[in-house]
Amino acid sequence: MSDVNTRLEHIFQQVVRRNQGELEFHQAVKEVIETLGPVLEKHPEYAEHKIIERICEPERQIIFRVPWQDDKGEVQINRGFRVGFNSALGPYKGGLRFHPSVSLGTIKFLGFEQTFKNALSGMPIGGAKGGADFDPKGKSDGEVMRFCQSFMTELYRHIGEFTDVPAGDIGVGGREIGYLFGQYKRITNRYESGVLTGKNPSWGGALVRREATGYGAVFFAEEMLKARGESIEGKTCVVSGSGNVAIYAIEKLHQLGAKVVACSDSNGVIYDRNGIDLELMKQIKEVKRQRVSEYVKSHPHAQYIEKGNVWDVPCQLAFPCATQNELDEASAKVLVANGLIALSEGANMPVTPGGIKVLQTAGVSYAPGKAANAGGVATSALEMQQNASRDAWSFEYTEERLHKIMCNIHRDCFETAKEYGQPGNYVVGANIAGFRRVAEAMVAFGII
Ligand code: NDP
Repeated sequence: MSDVNTRLEHIFQQVVRRNQGELEFHQAVKEVIETLGPVLEKHPEYAEHKIIERICEPERQIIFRVPWQDDKGEVQINRGFRVGFNSALGPYKGGLRFHPSVSLGTIKFLGFEQTFKNALSGMPIGGAKGGADFDPKGKSDGEVMRFCQSFMTELYRHIGEFTDVPAGDIGVGGREIGYLFGQYKRITNRYESGVLTGKNPSWGGALVRREATGYGAVFFAEEMLKARGESIEGKTCVVSGSGNVAIYAIEKLHQLGAKVVACSDSNGVIYDRNGIDLELMKQIKEVKRQRVSEYVKSHPHAQYIEKGNVWDVPCQLAFPCATQNELDEASAKVLVANGLIALSEGANMPVTPGGIKVLQTAGVSYAPGKAANAGGVATSALEMQQNASRDAWSFEYTEERLHKIMCNIHRDCFETAKEYGQPGNYVVGANIAGFRRVAEAMVAFGII
């Protein structure tokens, strides 16, 4: 093993030892560290300043109790988190996740990924993530409101437009952002629009923010396909999940002439050979907050597969848009056997390391989430710009900005992979391009 590789292995072992049991965090760190050897060879100053060691240690981690009362008057207690991972490029920025599976390790993996993603977006934002082990599913609006108010009653002292700017993620959409912003405004006596993004456009939100992550993942796929002489038009696609990212990935795919034949939730899969009826899906998920199984009630020609695997459905383009590690090696093999040509991650770390290997070996164009789903946070940064200038841009103008940003991220990843001798490897391109930007700023700031 070369000196550099020995050093990287040592750093990884330290991360495992100091963050015991946080398997998703270890996975995310390993995937980045494995690709950084050639950068350290080229830039010995990064090793001298211990940039990688510092990047793997969050700048701050806040854990707090969130007590609230349910509709029966019973007291409930959840655990809240906010991890400010790295603020070399700007105020901490990253979403809040409300899901029963949330632990410190989940938030750290997401915050670590976010640092590189935000750097790749080209926007002046650092990396962070937060959330709680609260499950909004099945809760009344009143319960969600009381939870959000209690959560913000602690969080407010740690955030601010120049310090840390949260947004949504799994389980945190427009409704939750509204309750969180309302409580922040009430406690602080300030209408500080720039403290949260993902707001409703009628009170300071940006048009296209809701659509941005899904649209962005499709724009990235479009660029990858162009690079191999293909296009989205006419392709058969599968999108996992049916939340915010999934719905708007489906919308953009349909607009570009592709057909999405399947999507899912954690209970099952909808397969519609005619193409998913998106208006119906929006009604079910966004308005009624129901399960995808409702779809077949009005579309009996479609199939609902309880506990099915969405990756068994044959497709040429795949968009995992649900959650981490949802697509393993076995599913990747099925996709390849069924003729997959490209995969763009709307979710964070949805493909396991074994799955990535299968895709890359088979010559599938594979876009890691930190590049492909950066459109969401990039548009959040556009929302911050609009808030700072008290302006509101049109849908068309904002979408055009998003499109340009995604093309730039693609070009950056593509060129960097080529520069480091691994053309077409978007994992290498994204990790190195994002890392270099953060590392340069950290060197400039000295030992802090
Ligand atoms: P939503 O809560 O809107 O939707 C999540 C979807 O994924 C739902 O269909 C949900 O099904 C499914 N899902 C969630 N957890 C699991 C699980 N453990 N097993 C199976 N299915 C699951 O979240 P988003 O659409 O906002 O986020 C989806 C992914 O995209 C996440 O990885 C997130 O980190 C990432 N992302 C989101 C961004 C954004 O702007 N919102 C930005 C960048 C990345 P069910 O309803 O059954 O739970």
